[in-house]
Amino acid sequence: MGTLAGRVAMVTGAAQGIGRAIAALLGASGARVALCDVVEPAAAQDALAEAGEGAAYFRCDVRSASEVEATVKAIVERMGGLAILVNNAGIAIDGLLLRAKDEDWQRVLEVNLTGAFHCTRAAAKHLLKARAQGRIVNISSVVGEAGSTGQVAYAASKAGLLGVTKTLAQELASRGVTVNAVCPGFIETRMTEEHVQGERRERLVASIPLGRIGSPRDVAEAVLFLCGDGAGYITGQCLRVNGGLYM
Ligand code: NAD
Repeated sequence: MGTLAGRVAMVTGAAQGIGRAIAALLGASGARVALCDVVEPAAAQDALAEAGEGAAYFRCDVRSASEVEATVKAIVERMGGLAILVNNAGIAIDGLLLRAKDEDWQRVLEVNLTGAFHCTRAAAKHLLKARAQGRIVNISSVVGEAGSTGQVAYAASKAGLLGVTKTLAQELASRGVTVNAVCPGFIETRMTEEHVQGERRERLVASIPLGRIGSPRDVAEAVLFLCGDGAGYITGQCLRVNGGLYM
């Protein structure tokens, strides 16, 4: 019996990268995990297998309020409730301000910020029923706190998530539900492979006090902690998992 035995956890963007590691670790800790992602089920098979026996995959685009509502309903019906929500789905479309396109700004905000809003609103009444076991963890970023050249939309979306975290921490606290953010630094996933290469990558690694890029597992461990009973008195906080990159 793991520490999260009997709890159902919804993880968005769970088909790969950080979301996949979170789903695997929550599953290994006893939670039954609802993996949600925009990809076809076949592309999520490996992540699903890693998340343990009780896990299930739900194809869902977090940008769509109606898809999210239907997905949360299906999770609660099939899995018997919902106690934990991890808003992890995210994209990055980089570019300097003067060349920034409206559609890129909108797309990043829609997935990273509006998507988390949709999921949280749909899940909230179920999380409230879980009372003191209810948990929301938003995956923000060091970029949301420190900014980053060429990432205006991404920074806005991740800073926005921190505002959402603090506001909902206050709103849901009376029922024992906690709302926290995890702010990863530079983590080895497809996102960083695509966006940070060559010399920029070397410079970034050199600037990390712990001297290495983080792993998805490093982030998942922080999420697991915040989802557990030991974190029941922590709410409205941002836990930085960045090797000391930003303090
Ligand atoms: P990734 O690209 O490897 O994975 C993101 C996942 O989100 C994918 O499986 C993708 O299909 C899914 N997704 C994208 N749009 C979606 C949508 N509309 N609906 C549902 N799912 C959707 O990225 P990652 O590096 O694992 O990032 C995960 C989260 O961590 C993101 O929110 C990202 O901003 C954040 N983060 C990453 C890093 C890093 O260095 N990798 C650092 C800080 C924060």
